[in-house]
Amino acid sequence: MTAKIIDGKVMAKQIREEAKAEAAELTSKYGMPPGLEVILIGDDPASAIYVRNKGRASEKVGIRSQTHPLPATVTTEEVLDLIDKLNADETVHGFLVQLPVPDQVDEKALQHRISPAKDVDGLHPFNVGLLSQGEDSLISATPSGIIEMLKREDIPIKGQNVTIVGRSNIVGKPLYMLCIREHATPTICHTRTRDLSAETRRADILVAAVGVPQLIKADMVKPGAVVVDVGTSRVDDPTVERGWSWSGDVAFDEVKEVASFITPVPGGVGPLTIAMLLKNCVKAARRLMSGEVQA
Ligand code: NAP
Repeated sequence: MTAKIIDGKVMAKQIREEAKAEAAELTSKYGMPPGLEVILIGDDPASAIYVRNKGRASEKVGIRSQTHPLPATVTTEEVLDLIDKLNADETVHGFLVQLPVPDQVDEKALQHRISPAKDVDGLHPFNVGLLSQGEDSLISATPSGIIEMLKREDIPIKGQNVTIVGRSNIVGKPLYMLCIREHATPTICHTRTRDLSAETRRADILVAAVGVPQLIKADMVKPGAVVVDVGTSRVDDPTVERGWSWSGDVAFDEVKEVASFITPVPGGVGPLTIAMLLKNCVKAARRLMSGEVQA
């Protein structure tokens, strides 16, 4: 069997078109576009690229965007002051702190201070709690993008065994809760999992969100399984001019011969993440502009 390769770029384009239509509707109804802002601390080049991509993607769909660069030496209190300003600003409907943050900054304190109504990364405990209770909330963009991708490919989720490798707050854990909401039977694995291969081989849908290049080999995958690769690691690659390439957590060439569907890296989950972030911003804007929620 050779797997169907899921094209995240095509799907992301559709989702961006939907976000664009919704942003235009809100702009004409309320006289102001949705606003998405990003706090960028320090000068990590990868973070700067991610933030630039988010800004460009926002502007293209009619979401006003702004980045707040802060020096690597900033204190937690200084970032909290900025968060308070963004919480109070009626032209800002969603914002996030680009991760990672420098060691001296208390990441949790920042996440807890962002108004849940504007928490487009879905990391505030209030939104996480709503998600765990199966209620409507702002949900982290990568896991919601994965569910959206499965649905748009008509891949059944209900009743399926889903194995998620990686238990981060931004991907693994919210995906676990979403799987429950979709009536799947999820299992979550991490570094203390006793027999990783046994868990991955039980999966009808296998999601790798680890950050270890090529961890998932063909013999760890059940024939016919759907394989979603979230991992994005930079690896040395002398065959390309820039000297490095992106690598996923899945040994793509061998696993595609076993799986029924597989996502590539790059071009799989990544584009969907940005598209779903835009959707989250539009959703936050709709709820704030209509008065359904207050910041
Ligand atoms: P993370 O915070 O980096 O944590 C990694 C997780 O993988 C942890 O739960 C860790 O277990 C587990 N793990 C590490 N090595 C393992 C092993 N050998 N066997 C089993 N589990 C192992 O996770 P993340 O932030 O979700 O990032 C994961 C990857 O996804 C990274 O490559 C990241 O760049 C990528 N990512 C991509 C997108 C996208 O849009 N495409 C979005 C977010 C993240 P412990 O908890 O026991 O340490």
